[in-house]
Amino acid sequence: MTPATGRGGETTDDADETDRALVADLLRTVPDFPKPGILFWDLTTVLADAAGLAATTRLLGGTPAGGEVDVVVGIEARGFLLGAAVAQALGLGVVPVRKQGKLPAVAASRSYDLEYGSATLELPADVLAPGARVLLVDDVLATGGTAGAACDLVEECGATVASLAVVLELPELGGRGRLDGRPLHAVLQR
Ligand code: AMP
Repeated sequence: MTPATGRGGETTDDADETDRALVADLLRTVPDFPKPGILFWDLTTVLADAAGLAATTRLLGGTPAGGEVDVVVGIEARGFLLGAAVAQALGLGVVPVRKQGKLPAVAASRSYDLEYGSATLELPADVLAPGARVLLVDDVLATGGTAGAACDLVEECGATVASLAVVLELPELGGRGRLDGRPLHAVLQR
């Protein structure tokens, strides 16, 4: 089969590879943040670059489910930036999943375990239609607790997770295993 052509006549696969290389090049690591021993993957250097933002948006929006979603859901806080850009590119709306206490009207809450203690995420009321196919977006999939809770929230509201798209998956932390088989698309793995 002849590969589809993308921007500038190169194949879509080639274009994706070019985009991926740019994102990888712009991504910054910060050792010992937010505490000693953690290597923090910092996307601010990618998002501040016009070509980097465009490449990231294309890659997240071009996930296997990209053409078959009704709405984008972005996870606080970097998922807001990414989710809005992807939604705009796909001609869709965007919904925030927020930390507890930030939303004035809440449809559902879900608590999950962190390394120490727990956290709660919330989905706004009256914005996600039952049966809606959702593209969930976040920056990093680490242990998967955050993404798993966000998926649960979407499903609790009667919508379905068509795909979870992240810029970076850290496979050693086993996050994929906490997604109960929901489709995951990672632009990069480290
Ligand atoms: P998780 O362990 O998958 O629930 O990760 C929780 C959230 O923390 C994710 O939404 C990421 O944005 C962020 N996060 C976790 N680990 C890292 C890391 N090493 N670098 C950057 N962000 C991280």
